Amino acid sequence: MDKKRREFLKIAGISTLAGLGAPAVVDRLITGSYPLAARAAREVTPGEGAGDQASTAGHGSDTVPSGTRYGMVIDVRKFNENPAMAEACIKACHSVHNVPDLAEKNNEIKWIWLTGYGNAFPDHSHYHKDENLEKNQVLVLCNHCDSPPCVRACPTKATFKNKDGIVAMDYHRCIGCRFCMAACPYGARSFNWQDPRNGLDMNKINREFPTRMRGVVEKCNFCVDRLPRGLQPACVEATGASKAMVFGDLNDPNSEIRQVLKENFTIQRKPALGTQPSVFFIV
Ligand code: SF4
Ligand code: SF4
Ligand code: SF4
Repeated sequence: MDKKRREFLKIAGISTLAGLGAPAVVDRLITGSYPLAARAAREVTPGEGAGDQASTAGHGSDTVPSGTRYGMVIDVRKFNENPAMAEACIKACHSVHNVPDLAEKNNEIKWIWLTGYGNAFPDHSHYHKDENLEKNQVLVLCNHCDSPPCVRACPTKATFKNKDGIVAMDYHRCIGCRFCMAACPYGARSFNWQDPRNGLDMNKINREFPTRMRGVVEKCNFCVDRLPRGLQPACVEATGASKAMVFGDLNDPNSEIRQVLKENFTIQRKPALGTQPSVFFIV
């Protein structure tokens, strides 16, 4: 067993010995008394990237943002006008990232998916809501929260926030404890109950992106694999010139996403929880 793996299994062992089940972890995250969570929070935001400053995105902080904080705006109205576009986004993401198509709903792996307006935005008024919102679904994905409870819950640092504000995964460190799933209030993470390769046509997979294994968690990675190649996220690319999705740096006042945020009223999912989502919706 290599040193790196020994180290994180030791951390995981400490959590187990301490008798911390997922509900306990979540509870301690809320009360702020979970030492591993506190340590993770400190390590995630060492004054770089989005961590402690990224609140150009409407949280009322006086701190001047620096570094990159990637975010996304989804224009729900444009998806309502062209519902096929959502399916194209899901297909693009799942094929680029080798997301399996498993028959059983309980085992489903999803990086980006459709859900009802009420489910996406339970804390917004649904009183006689707009007909389009009533009959159409909303495309949702991981929010790459600026204050991510999933990261604080992870005992092995298998999930972490990178310097550009992306909440990423290191599948090799994941021990499948699912604390992160319990901590995420958006259901943005999926667990591989079975070998995901069972749901893939291995002759058609993207060989440039790893397949996963049974027992690990996965989710949207904001296309961290594509950005260094100058590519837009696959889902954004699938929307063509429609501008139904705009991706960019929330900390750059000259970025397109900042312009879109400036010109449109947007909402986030469950903002009262304080997770500070980096995905915004025009409804
Ligand atoms: S949406 Fe969930 S998985 Fe994504 S960063 Fe936020 S808490 Fe973590
Ligand atoms: S299941 Fe989640 S919390 Fe547990 S090790 Fe994997 S990423 Fe971390
Ligand atoms: S940003 Fe990338 S990983 Fe996330 S849903 Fe879109 S295509 Fe998938």
